[in-house]
Order: sequence, then C-alpha cells, then structure tokens
Amino acid sequence: MAPQGSRAPLEFGGPLGAAALMLLLPATMFHLLLAARSGPARLLGLPPHLPAPEALWSPAALLLWLTWLGLQAALYLLPARKMAEGQELKDKSRLRYPINGNPIYDFFLGRELNPRIGSFDCKYFCELRPGLIGWVLINLALLVQEAELRGSPSLAMWLVNGFQLLYVGDALWHEEAVLTTMDITHDGFGFMLAFGDLAWVPFTYSLQAQFLLYHPQPLELPMASVICLVNAVGYYIFRGANSQKNTFRKNPSDPRVAGLETIATATGRQLLVSGWWGMVRHPNYLGDLVMALAWSLPCGVSHLLPYFYLLYFTALLVHREARDEQQCLQKYGLAWREYCRRVPYRIVPYIY
Ligand code: NDP
Repeated sequence: MAPQGSRAPLEFGGPLGAAALMLLLPATMFHLLLAARSGPARLLGLPPHLPAPEALWSPAALLLWLTWLGLQAALYLLPARKMAEGQELKDKSRLRYPINGNPIYDFFLGRELNPRIGSFDCKYFCELRPGLIGWVLINLALLVQEAELRGSPSLAMWLVNGFQLLYVGDALWHEEAVLTTMDITHDGFGFMLAFGDLAWVPFTYSLQAQFLLYHPQPLELPMASVICLVNAVGYYIFRGANSQKNTFRKNPSDPRVAGLETIATATGRQLLVSGWWGMVRHPNYLGDLVMALAWSLPCGVSHLLPYFYLLYFTALLVHREARDEQQCLQKYGLAWREYCRRVPYRIVPYIY
C-alpha cells in the first residue's frame, strides 16, 4: 500500500487557478509584446490589432530558437564545469505515488521535481541558461536596432541594458545559489517553470527595451544618475541579503556571519534574526523590487506599460513570500512564529 503521507495543500488556486494561469500568462505575454510596438503602448485596454496567423509562424525563428537551445545545452554539457551538491530530497526514503493527482494542476506545477536525462538536469538547465541569457541577447539586439534606427543607442536604452546585464551576470556568477531556491527544491518542472524560464523571462523581462525602441524617451544625466543610484541601492540590499543567508547556510561559524543573532529550531538549523534578515523577513525581495523600479524609470512616466514588470513582480513576490512563509512554518513551527514576532515585517520595513 502507498504510504499515507499528509498531502500538501494545493497552491496557485488549485486546478482552476492553474488552468486560468496557463491561459492568461501566454495571452498576457502576447498582449505586452504587441502593445510595446503599438503607438499608444497601452498596458490596459483592448489588445492592439492582432497579426495574421502566418506572421506568427516562422520556420527560421523556430530553427534559430532550437539552435540557441542546442548551443546552450552543449555548453551546459561541457566537461570542464564545477559540480555542486544539491539539497537533500525530502522523500529520500520514500517512493512518490502520483495518486489522486489533478491533470491540470499537475501539468502546471509538474510532478517531477528533478527530471534528468542522464546527467542533464532539465529544470536546472532551463532556470539559468537559455532564457536568462536569451533575455540579455534580446536586449542587446534591441540596443543595436536602436543604434541603426537613430544613429546611436539612447541613454535610457544603455541604462536598461546595463542594469539587466548586471542582474543576469549576478545570477550566473552566483549560479550555485539557485540550488537552494524554492524553484529547485520545492516546485516540479511543469508548465509554470518551463514556460516561465523559456518564454516569459526572455520576452516580458525585455519589455522596457522593446518599449524604448518604439517610444524613445528623453533622459538627462542628472536623472540618469539618480536612477543609477536607485539601482545600486537595490542591488546592495539584494546581494547583501542573499550572500548573508547563503554564507550562513553553508557555514554558520564563518566570521562574516558568526556574530549575528540567531534562533534555534527543532530541526537543528538556525534562523538569522539580525543583520539583513532581522530587518524584514525577505530583505532579498525588497532589493529586487527596488531594482525593478530602477529598470522602469528610464522609460519615463508617460506610459504604464514599462512598469508592468514592477507591478507583476510585486504580485509575484508577495505571493512567493506567502508560500515560503507557509513552508517555513511547516519546517520550523514555533521557532518560525518566534521569528515572525521578532521581525514583524515581511518585505518593506514598517509597511508590509
Ligand atoms: P529565498 O532566497 O528568499 O529563500 C527562502 C528560504 O530562506 C526559506 O525557505 C528558508 O529556507 C531560508 N530563510 C528564511 N528566513 C531565514 C532566516 N531568517 N535565516 C536563515 N534562513 C532563512 O528564496 P527565493 O528562491 O524565493 O529567492 C531567491 C532570490 O531570487 C531572491 O533574491 C528573489 O528576489 C529572487 N527571485 C527572482 C525572480 C525573478 O523572476 N527575477 C523570481 C523569484 C525569485 P531554509 O531555512 O530551508 O534555508
């Protein structure tokens, strides 16, 4: 008989929410891409005119995409690479029994946590390489196209490219840190991560650069300096918080974190309660949001469309924070409640 483990509560609104998201996400992506190149560039309202079906299909584009994926896969498989240990699997002593699953929900979240073909880890590969590097490439292509169109890239385009290159470069530099994220340790490899990593990230995260190509924005040096400062502050918080936790999780007696206050938990692990993690319960999300603001500001304030990322990302991180809290409460019980009492704000000090 299958072990009678308690089933985790359904996330994302269960099958109905999963079905709605699978329709809404691709539709939103198309809407944003079409809106960015239309004159009014409206975030809300009816979509601009739809392209003819034949314009949506291009064998050359498919070939290019498959070549890109193949190139990334070949690089991923290069023998000269560092190997890192992943997190211990929760079910190491049990088999998984996919009984009573809902096909829509399972398709969305994925049943398989770490699908592999030999040593090729499909989820880990998709998380960091083709989509994330593809995002930077699309940005760069838009910068080159702007230079061709107007003689030189605009200051706003340089800023958006520079900020997002820093973000992607940082993610690749700290590649190992992805092994402890919720995406790798908790979520299966279903529609959410496959579509998110391969389509949503490269095409909607490059929305600001796409908007700037079709809607050039004047930007003076003083304002550009202020925006650079906002991005630097966001990056400082984001990197500081993530590095502090990673260092602590790897080695709590590392001199850089040994002096921080902690709460003991029944699992033997400790929770940081001073430093970045004593300010709010998700300081890394705060830094990420400040950077998201800096990426939109070069696009001016005439349109809401370039702020889509900031709005969507706020919703994503608020939801992600709630999911993480639920998982931490299950993991750490009373110790987590004590942490919440001592650090009452989730993402923004004194506000949320
Ligand atoms: P986090 O890095 O926020 O990790 C959460 C985990 O950290 C918890 O489950 C817990 O795990 C541990 N933790 C929480 N509080 C403490 C504490 N006080 N002391 C020690 N450990 C603690 O998870 P995410 O994967 O959500 O985020 C990683 C980064 O990726 C973030 O910077 C986020 O902003 C970014 N991100 C970016 C996205 C994008 O699209 N641009 C999308 C999603 C995330 P445990 O105790 O088991 O170690």
